[in-house]
Amino acid sequence: MKKIALHWKILIGMLLGIVFGGAMTYVGGGKEFVVNWINPLGTIFVKLLKLIAIPLILASLIKGISDLKDISKFRNIGFRTIATYIITTVIAITIGLVLVNLFKPGDGISEETIKRLTDTYANDSGVQSKLAQASVQKQSGPLQFLIDMVPDNAFAAMSNNGLMLQVIFFTIFFGISMLLIGEKASKPLKDFFDALNDVVLKMVDLIMLTAPVAVFALLANVVVTSSDPDLLIALLRYSILVVVGLFIMVIVYSLIVAVVTKRNPFWFLKQISPAQLLAFSTSSSAATLPVTMERVEEHIGVDKEVSSFVLPVGATINMDGTSLYQGVAAVFISQALGHELALADQLTIVITALLASIGSAAVPGAGMVMLVIVLEAIGFPPDKLAVGLALIFAVDRPLDMCRTTVNVTGDATVSMLVAKAVGKLGKPKVKNWDDHYDEVK
Ligand code: ASP
Repeated sequence: MKKIALHWKILIGMLLGIVFGGAMTYVGGGKEFVVNWINPLGTIFVKLLKLIAIPLILASLIKGISDLKDISKFRNIGFRTIATYIITTVIAITIGLVLVNLFKPGDGISEETIKRLTDTYANDSGVQSKLAQASVQKQSGPLQFLIDMVPDNAFAAMSNNGLMLQVIFFTIFFGISMLLIGEKASKPLKDFFDALNDVVLKMVDLIMLTAPVAVFALLANVVVTSSDPDLLIALLRYSILVVVGLFIMVIVYSLIVAVVTKRNPFWFLKQISPAQLLAFSTSSSAATLPVTMERVEEHIGVDKEVSSFVLPVGATINMDGTSLYQGVAAVFISQALGHELALADQLTIVITALLASIGSAAVPGAGMVMLVIVLEAIGFPPDKLAVGLALIFAVDRPLDMCRTTVNVTGDATVSMLVAKAVGKLGKPKVKNWDDHYDEVK
């Protein structure tokens, strides 16, 4: 029998999850059943992916740097990566702002809907916790992000997935020092990390065997816990606009891939589709990272020297989908609540959304926390912030799923561009989960 491709299996799992979740909303006790008995399968899957994120970054970045054999190449990759990330993010925010100013979804929203959304969500613990998290974030000084990047304890950094940039910092430092002690002296360490890297990638393969079932569980849970359909419909114009913006961004990536790397963009999208589908199902670019790395290296042919740096850094600082969403949401809320925006405010949105996307954690719902900071930067009245967030809270989860998909697609695109620029874009080298199974079974 012909093997069904992984992305089809995942897609089927997702569709069945949506149908099952939808059906369970009509059954008495159905919601509790899904939450208590089905969702744990999805949660375990996400935990497994996060479990291997730190060992993967460690092993693959050290392997990447030690394969480079020359520090100046690394500087080149680093500079190009950051510059390209900034450019794609600015493009994304601009697309969002053009759309929201052109179609003005906030103007059409009635007083009654605003009241209903405010009554439902302004005091909701979800909205309040986002405001609280944003106020912690805001109290830091301008160079705090640099201070935060440097760990004072490597093991403490490695024991917290939220400290990915610290782990990257430590690993780069370690890898460069390894280069400097010379090939002979570093050989045992290099062999160790090479093997660790292979093992962790095998773990990705094994975890991915369960992906179709896991996405079924994740999506069934999203459906049973989603907001009242009436509220979703009231926000339809806004949601469609965000989704259209995100879609345009994917077209932009495809064009860039076609023009710069001369590869077929449909082929590119097909190769990374399992990572995109997981990003959609988990709403977390950090959880998706191991799969993104595997797809980009093995199925697209980006060398580890590039992907091991570009992708983990991208998962934490490059969020094109999130920044596009922040642009649209900030203007939508201002339109709906009658807060006038001057042209300068729109420029402020570009800059703060760019910084916010760097500062957003790669976990579900983080984009909304940083939206508070964007709103404050454009002089949005602090007493209305809760109302502003309440307006968009009902649709945050589905939009989070879509924007995370774009975040991951953006990271993969940039890794191809950087690889092409430094001559590290080669042929795909696909490995199967059972390549050596016969030897051990
Ligand atoms: N969930 C997004 C991510 O992980 C961040 C966000 O937009 O909330 O990429």
